[in-house]
Amino acid sequence: MFRDKVAIITGASRGIGAAAAQALAAGSASIVVTARDAQSCEAVAAGIRHHGGKALAVACDVSKFDQVDALFQKTIEAYGSLHILVNNAGVIDPIASLRDGDAEEWAQSISINLVGGYYVAKSAINAFSAPGVIVNVSSGAAHGPREGWSAYCAGKAGFAMVTQSIAHEIPAEEVRVYGYAPGTVDTDMQGRIRDSGVNPISQMKREDHWDPAEPAKVIAWLCSPDAVDLAGQELSMSDVDLRRRAGLSR
Ligand code: NAP
Repeated sequence: MFRDKVAIITGASRGIGAAAAQALAAGSASIVVTARDAQSCEAVAAGIRHHGGKALAVACDVSKFDQVDALFQKTIEAYGSLHILVNNAGVIDPIASLRDGDAEEWAQSISINLVGGYYVAKSAINAFSAPGVIVNVSSGAAHGPREGWSAYCAGKAGFAMVTQSIAHEIPAEEVRVYGYAPGTVDTDMQGRIRDSGVNPISQMKREDHWDPAEPAKVIAWLCSPDAVDLAGQELSMSDVDLRRRAGLSR
């Protein structure tokens, strides 16, 4: 489905991003696996190559614009073009009350979840061989406060506005953009949430979370032409019709 397409997936060293990289590679896209930890990115890329896919690992901290710029330059040098961005890198920390939390950690969270997401989207828009597709990985937390998550909620709320702004400024024929909240997913991030014991989400059982392969399937489907009619929208895993269209069995 994605033959001759090139995809960058941020936050692809583990969790939802790694699964999305594998799903797009299974559809024959050429993949750039990126996150801060170079070794973990290389392990994911090597796994894709082992299964006959094309993948390159590039270490990048999305909160540093020079590193994001270098990521896009390396992608074009390696593959010659870019068609898909899965803008997925994110952090849940700091989990702390507004009263007690550390101000620098709050700002660092915003610099990854919001500023980093903007840096990556902006760079992709300028690098795309039109038409391009962006999936901004959102969260239910973008649309309502959760105890102890003020940094995460504020960052994801701002990121949802980045999605809307792209849709507002750029015609979907040039760049299709989606916000996609993946539901609660069994990743390291949910492990950290469980360990915190803060707010009802930390009390959820592991078996109640999605396996990362399930939101990854939806992300890959959004990158396909079948999802054109949903362009510009903020979508959610809780949407049964979306899950059905993306081919999930539940
Ligand atoms: P995860 O397992 O903790 O993975 C997060 C990924 O982001 C890792 O690859 C991490 O790699 C990368 N990352 C973190 N900070 C980065 C930075 N500054 N620059 C580049 N990469 C960075 O979390 P996940 O659950 O897969 O989450 C993926 C996305 O889904 C996030 O945007 C998250 O907010 C969203 N989400 C998750 C859930 C859930 O239930 N899991 C629910 C709603 C939304 P490095 O540490 O190596 O950089």
